[in-house]
Amino acid sequence: MKVAAVPAVAAPAASAPAPGARPSRVATHSHIKGLGLSPSGDALDQSAGFVGQRLAREACGVVVDLIKSRKFSGRALLLVGAPGTGKTALALAVAQELGAKVPFCPMVGSEVYSAEVKKTEVLAEAFRRAIGLRIKETKEVYEGELTELTPTEAENPLSSYGKTVSNVVIGLKTVKGTKQLRLDPSIYEAILKEKIVVGDVIYIEANTGAVKRVGRSDAYASSFDLESETYVPLPKGEVHKRKELVQDVTLGDLDNANARPQGGQDIMSIMSQLVKSQRTEVTEKLRREVNRVVKSYVDQGVAEVVPGVVFIDEVHMLDIECFTYLNSLLESPMAPTVILATNRGTSLVKGSIDIVSPHGIPNDLLDRCMIVKTEPYSRDEVSKVVQLRAGIEGLSLGEGVVAKLAGEGETASLRYVLQLLTPASIIASLQGRTEITLEDIGEMNDLFLDARTSAALMSASTPKP
Ligand code: ATP
Repeated sequence: MKVAAVPAVAAPAASAPAPGARPSRVATHSHIKGLGLSPSGDALDQSAGFVGQRLAREACGVVVDLIKSRKFSGRALLLVGAPGTGKTALALAVAQELGAKVPFCPMVGSEVYSAEVKKTEVLAEAFRRAIGLRIKETKEVYEGELTELTPTEAENPLSSYGKTVSNVVIGLKTVKGTKQLRLDPSIYEAILKEKIVVGDVIYIEANTGAVKRVGRSDAYASSFDLESETYVPLPKGEVHKRKELVQDVTLGDLDNANARPQGGQDIMSIMSQLVKSQRTEVTEKLRREVNRVVKSYVDQGVAEVVPGVVFIDEVHMLDIECFTYLNSLLESPMAPTVILATNRGTSLVKGSIDIVSPHGIPNDLLDRCMIVKTEPYSRDEVSKVVQLRAGIEGLSLGEGVVAKLAGEGETASLRYVLQLLTPASIIASLQGRTEITLEDIGEMNDLFLDARTSAALMSASTPKP
C-alpha cells in the first residue's frame, strides 16, 4: 500500500491585494488601455482609448522601449502640460505597455505633507508599492473518485465519545488506477463537512487541506460511448499532481504584512512572516530584511521582481529635501520607473530661499529627466474623448450635447467637461430620463463654474486698491 502524508493543515489562502492598487484615482482613466501605437511606434488616430496627443504618446513609446531594454535606470520621465491634458493617462498607459499586472502607483506631490508620516517616508512607501513581486507557489493536489473512506479510531479518554480519529485512509481512483492515501484526520472532518460520499470525484489540496467535490463518478460512467462501447473515463486526474499558482503582491504589501504578521501557512501568511520582527511599523531596517529574503526567493526561482511605475503628479509641490531623497531613490538598484508631472513654468524650488529653476525642480533632478510636453485639446479631440467616456459610463447623450461639451472643453478643460457627465446624468435621472439633454448641461453650468470663469468673476468683484 502506498502511503502519503499531508503536511499540517493551514487556513485558506488570503487573497492578495492588487499590486499598487489605488482604484479610485485610476477609475477615471478606465478607457485607457495603452499608448495606442503601431508596431513601428507611430501614434494611431484613436487607439487604446487615446485620442490626439500624438507626439507625447510616441515619446512615451520610446521611453517604454528604453525601460524594456533596461536603458532607463537612474532616469525619470517628466510630463509637462496644462491640467487635464492627459499626463496621468499617459503615465498609466506606460505602465500598461510594460505588461499586465505591472504595478502603477500614482500620488500627488502634496501628499508628502502629512502630520503623522515623514515626507521622505511617504515617497519611500510609494516606491515600494510600485515594485511588484510575482510569487510562484506550487500546490500539490490529490484528485480522483473516492472509493474508500476509513477513519482509524483510537481510544481517547478526553473525548466524550471515548474515541478520536487519528488518521483516515482514502482510496482515490483515476484513469491510472486506484491508490490509497493515509491522511491527516482534519481531511476526514472536511470530507464529512462537504457531505462527500464514496463515488464522488474529489480534489484535496495537500498544503492547505482544502477538499472540494468536482463531480459524481456516475455522471461520467453514464456517458456511455455507443460506438466504442466504453464508458467515458474519469476526468484526467492523477492521484498526485502539481499545480502552479501565481500571486502578485508589491514590496509595500510585504513591508506592511511583516510589520503586522499573521498566522497560517498559505503563501501570503508565510510571506508575512519573512522577517522575525516584533515591530508594528515599517522601518528602513524591516525593508532591508524584506529585501534580503525577497532576493533569496528570487535566487531560488520562487519569485520574480516586477518593477512598476510610480507617478508623482504636481511634482513642483515637493520640497528640496524630497527632491534630494528622490535622487537617491532613483539610484537604488530596485527602483521602479519614475514619471513626474507638472504644469508649472520657472518657479522657486519649495523649501529653498533662492533656487529658481524650470518647473520648480532642482537642476540635478532635471538633468536626469526626459521631458515630454502635452498639448491642449482641439474641439474635435474633446468631443471624441467625451463620447468615449459616455460609452464607458453607459450614458446616452442627446442632440447637441457632444458639440456643446466639446466647445466648453476647448475653452475650460477636458477634465472639466468629463466631470460634468456624471452629475448631468443624475439631473437627467431625477427628471425620469435616461438621456442627458442640453438643458441638463445648462443647469450644470448654472450650478458649477469652470476654474477660469470663477477666477474671472472673483477678480471682477475684488475691489481695486
Ligand atoms: P492634472 O495635471 O490636473 O493632473 P492630467 O494632465 O493628469 O491633469 P488626466 O487626469 O490624465 O490629465 O486627464 C483628464 C481626463 O481626461 C482623464 O479622465 C483622462 O483619462 C482623460 N484624457 C486625457 N487625455 C486623453 C486623451 N488624449 N485621450 C483620451 N482620454 C484622455
